Parts: sequence; structure tokens; C-alpha cells
Amino acid sequence: MTKVRKSPLEMEKDEFRKVGYKLIDDISDFISTIDQKPVTPGEKPSQLQKLLENRTLPENGTSAELLLSKATELLLNHSLLNGHPKFFGYITSSAAPIGALADLLAASVNPNVGAHILSPIATEIEKQTMAWLAEFIGVSPNYGGILVSGGNMANFTGFLAGRTAMASEKLKTDGLNATEKLTIYCSKTTHTWIEKAAILFGSGLSSIRWIKTNTANQMDTAALEETIKADLSKGFKPIMIIGTAGDVSTGTVDDLKNLAAISKKLKLWFHIDGAYGIPAAVLPSCKTLFEGLEEADSIALDPHKWLYSPLEAGCTLVKNPKHLTDTYSSHPDYYNFGSHEGEYTQNFYEFGLQNSRGFKALKVWLMLQQIGKNGYIKLISEDIELAQLLFELANRHEDLEALTQNLSITTLRYVPKDFDVNQDNANDYLNKLNEELLNKLQLGGELFLSNAVIQDKYCLRACIVNFRTSEKDIHEIIDIISREGDKTHKSLSKTN
Ligand SMILES: *Cc1c(COP(=O)(O)O)cnc(C)c1O
Repeated sequence: MTKVRKSPLEMEKDEFRKVGYKLIDDISDFISTIDQKPVTPGEKPSQLQKLLENRTLPENGTSAELLLSKATELLLNHSLLNGHPKFFGYITSSAAPIGALADLLAASVNPNVGAHILSPIATEIEKQTMAWLAEFIGVSPNYGGILVSGGNMANFTGFLAGRTAMASEKLKTDGLNATEKLTIYCSKTTHTWIEKAAILFGSGLSSIRWIKTNTANQMDTAALEETIKADLSKGFKPIMIIGTAGDVSTGTVDDLKNLAAISKKLKLWFHIDGAYGIPAAVLPSCKTLFEGLEEADSIALDPHKWLYSPLEAGCTLVKNPKHLTDTYSSHPDYYNFGSHEGEYTQNFYEFGLQNSRGFKALKVWLMLQQIGKNGYIKLISEDIELAQLLFELANRHEDLEALTQNLSITTLRYVPKDFDVNQDNANDYLNKLNEELLNKLQLGGELFLSNAVIQDKYCLRACIVNFRTSEKDIHEIIDIISREGDKTHKSLSKTN
């Protein structure tokens, strides 16, 4: 008789069920009371390290039940909660609970969505999700794409596809040295991914042309055309215009229609970074704002931002998906991933940088069905209305200055009502005051904002991608900001 293998990693059915039920109970309690917790405990790294007891690698095992109960305690009580109704920092959304269950299910089955044969139903679900996302933002169903880890990767994936498409064939065999000097065009508000891409993928920072912005903070299209013309006359090879649909600081959407027309006229690749803002294109009221979107050769968007997916989920959509396979496909001898009884089988490893891939699509696919397009129209427009309310309340408040409002981003700063804004170094003082105020607010745990600098003004920035936020929260945060602003001003003016 052969011995039955007993694996210490295996969990017996009853044990898994018991530990799993307990975990689900704890998570249910956590989600239903999340508004009663501080947004963040604001603990120092040393305090957190103490919790982990400075332990070395365990030699032997511990029961799953004990481990999960400890891990649950650590995570639920020592985390920053971006699912809290008063979390408005950076661009991280509250996560849809169905996404958590989807990740559990996906990890349990564990399909490798690199190849169809390894993930038959998961691959088809990801394909359907791509088609739905294209439909959601209003581009042709011929767009194809892939889910990636986030906005940076989504932009990289589109950027490389565009560069391969635009450069000479020699790029693949002989590298960038063999090609003309490729140049790319984007506005000064473009997210830092573009610098990372230029450095990592060998184009170099000098290949980026930073185009100035107009008074509306959009790329100045006249300056864009002039710069391209000058580059052409100097022997450079312009390849790509990058538009931003919802910039990180203020939510500004570039004039996509005009950028699309210039790209078309000059035969350049048109990439749109819509990591944050593009889901708003689903709103009938935003149709004009996003006009030109449907002309993009590639688009980056982040389901883990304004579609409320748990981290991580980014997405690249490409008008002609052939450019993805042209860039990313290779066929080693040991892969036997061809067709399935004559039918085309799509292998996602040929669509992007990753080889083995997890099943990120499940959560996005389920969320899109749980509330449908109309559910998203409701949530996204409510987020925008809340950001507008914040702007109006700040505008009316005697100690607050409302600065900008686009999509669901509002910027404001604290300016004490008795403060003489014409005195020497007034702006320096206000910058210091608002920076200190922000630091205080971030550690205080009552709410969470991030910052922006708008025309030399350091300000507080709220980005509302949070389906748990209500009007009451907006009224309350106005009170919190003015109360803490007053305290900070008093203590600062004393020390001055
Ligand atoms: C958030 C964001 C990114 C980066 O996305 P990650 O998911 O953080 O990698 C890029 N561009 C824009 C416009 C963004 O808002």
C-alpha cells in the first residue's frame, strides 16, 4: 500500500470552513462599522514594528485559525481605511465588497490567465470584461486589451505598443540606437509614469517634450503643434501625443478632440491616460468633455480608481489590438497554446508584459454586473456632486478659499478671515499653514485629504471616488478643516 501524502499546507474541509466563516464574520462587522473607526490610527513605523514583535522566520508552523485571527486583528485595527466615508486622499477608492469575495474565489480556483488552455473560463471572462469596459467608456467594440496591475502598468503597456507601432522595424532587432530620435509629447500635468517609461524603456528623459498648459490647465495645443513642427525640422521623429483625461492634481481633462485631430493630421499615435477620469465618460453630462476619446490609439484606465475595484486592477485598451500582439507576442518551442479544435484561442500573455497572470478580471466583471452601467452613472455623478458641494461650501466659508473643481476633485486652502493677504510673504505663510494643517489632518484620523500645489499655492485636495461618502460627511469635513485650521494658525502665529 502506498502511503497517503499528508501536506501541512492542506486545510481539512471542516477547518477551512470554520476559519473561513469566522473571517467572513469579522469582515462583515468591519465593513458595516467602518464609518465609526478613525480613517487611520496614524501610528509610527516603530509602533507598528513592535506589533510584529521583531520575530525571525518561523522554523515550524502555527495553526491557520490562530494566524488568521491575528492577521485580522492587525489589518482591521492598524490600517488606513480607504473605504471610510471620509477618505479622499490621492486617488484610491473605497473597494466594492463583492470585489473582496471575487478575489477569494479567484485565488481559490487560481487560474493562470496567461494562456487560454490554463484558464478557459477565466480568459473568456477577461475578454468579455474588456469588451464591456470599451462599451462603458464609449469606444468601438473593436478595441481590445488586457487587465494589468494599475495605471502605471496600463500606460506602459499602451506606450510600448505605440512606440513599436511607430518606430521602424529595426527597433525590435537592433534597439533604439538603430532608430531615428523618437520624441513624445505630453503636458506638464502628465503623471510621473511617463518619466518612468522614458527611463525604463530606453527612450530617455530628453525624448519627452513637456508642453505648457493653458489657463484651463489643459495642454496648449498651439504650443504642441509648434513644438512638433520644430522637432520635425531638426530631424527628430515625433511618434506619440499623450493626452490626460483627468489629471491627478486637479482632474482637468485635456482637449481630447483637438489632440485627436492633431495626431490624425500628423500621423502620430494618440494615447490617453484616463487612469482616474475616464469612467466619467459614461455620464451623458460629460459627453462633450470627453469628445475625441473614441479616436485614441490606446487608453489607460484604472478599475481600482473610479470603478471602485479593490487593488489591483488597471486596464489598457488599444484601438487595433494587433499592436499589442505585435509588441508582446513571442512563441517559444515549449508553448503549445495554439487553437482549440480550429477555434481561435486568445492567450493574454501575448497582450502585455506579464506571462503568468492572476484573475483580476473576476472582480471587475462581477462589479459591472452587480450595479450595471446605470449603477455606475449614479455613483460617479454623485461623487462629482459631492466634490462640487465641497467647493461651494468652501467658497462660502469665511476662512476657506476654494481653488479648483473638476470631475470629483476639489482643491481649497485655509485662509484665516483676519489675515492680510497683501502683506509681505503672505503666500509663504499660507503655504506653511496649509502644509502643517494637512499633516495634522492626515494623522488625526478624522478625515484624509492629500495636497496639490496650484499656482504656487499649497492647498488641500479632496478626490472623491468613494461610494460611502454622503453630504453629511462633506459638511462635517468643512467644520473639521476650519477648526483645525484655526488651531494651526494660532500656534503658528505664536511661534512666528
Ligand atoms: C493614478 C494615476 C496613474 C497611476 O496609476 P497607478 O494605478 O497608481 O499605477 C497614472 N495616471 C493618472 C492620471 C492617474 O490618476
